[in-house]
Amino acid sequence: MLAGVDWPRTPVERVQLFRPPFCPWSQCSEHRREQRGFRFRRHGFYDTLRRTVPRFFCLSCRRTFSRQTFSTSYYLKRPELLLPTAAGLQAGGALRQIARSLTCAPSTPARLAARLGRHAMLLHSRALVHLRGRLAEPVVLDHFETFEFSQDCPFGVATAVGSRSWFVYGLDPAPHARTGKRSAFQEAKRKARPPQPTRGGITGSMTRVLDALLHFFPKNSAIELTTDGHMSYAQALGKTRFRDRFRHTGYPNPKRGPKGAPRSQAARVRDRAMFPVDTLHGLLRHSECHHRRETIAFGRRTNAILERLYLASAWRNFVKGVSERRPDPTTPAMKLKLTTEPWTWERVLARRLFPGRLLLPKCWLEVYRREWITPGGPNSPHQLTLAY
Ligand SMILES: [Zn+2]
Repeated sequence: MLAGVDWPRTPVERVQLFRPPFCPWSQCSEHRREQRGFRFRRHGFYDTLRRTVPRFFCLSCRRTFSRQTFSTSYYLKRPELLLPTAAGLQAGGALRQIARSLTCAPSTPARLAARLGRHAMLLHSRALVHLRGRLAEPVVLDHFETFEFSQDCPFGVATAVGSRSWFVYGLDPAPHARTGKRSAFQEAKRKARPPQPTRGGITGSMTRVLDALLHFFPKNSAIELTTDGHMSYAQALGKTRFRDRFRHTGYPNPKRGPKGAPRSQAARVRDRAMFPVDTLHGLLRHSECHHRRETIAFGRRTNAILERLYLASAWRNFVKGVSERRPDPTTPAMKLKLTTEPWTWERVLARRLFPGRLLLPKCWLEVYRREWITPGGPNSPHQLTLAY
């Protein structure tokens, strides 16, 4: 029997006689402890409106912390908003709508969305570590088209999905130039904008995804990769470090007739091969309000869009069943034997995860720290010392 992802059922606030498993201070030598045996002392309590929270004293670094340090709602004045915000974001709610129904300021769901995205990314990396050496299914990859701030700043997000489990393995942005027709006015407006750094465009994004896959599956046998055969994909796959590690099959998009026309044989073959990733894209457009067509709730910042995509992946992987038509609650994580049952949002948020205890690929850390800067606009990097 393969070991699943080791993840508690009960939120830390409801655990009776909680014992801290490691020191939450990132500089402490006990911060990265995996085994039992962390040495601490009890250090009193403090009272909140709802409950009494125990405090602890680390015998290594001689600093104190509380049970709340291990909760995903650490430092929050209204911890009860975290869970409904996660559910609301995934149920097609926009930030202001969520704020109205939860009676809080509209900036609150925006900040919580960032926190939830970071948590989802850490949870994701933890799941991938559990799959180390046993990635046995082909990975289907395609870019999901969206934009930040204005349609003048489009970017694709590489989405790597398991062909059998439909598990989302990775995400990576690829800013590119605006395409399609535009009027002289639109073109003048586009030229007046500060240019968006492309960071290698589609090739750069593909390279980062492949590197992230190798980061998590260093000793895996060759990983099978299915794409739509975009030219930039071949360019990235041609790099020496990827040549023996990936076996690539491309299914270029064939010419299609007018809407509603029967599909050609080639189109059927392509659609079958790319189905897992096409389904994910459809699901994102359906469930995420900022990815709907012609919406005014469109994403303003690449960083925020990625955080919400990580949250959507956590939902896809652990919460949502693979099929809506059949009464089958099996989730992608269950198909991979990472979990034995679908998770609730409460379970997803049962513990805080610490980036210092997980080895993230460089490109993920850049998203974690919000380093995808939008030129010309205010950017809020994530550089907190304690609530990191
Ligand atoms: Zn310590």
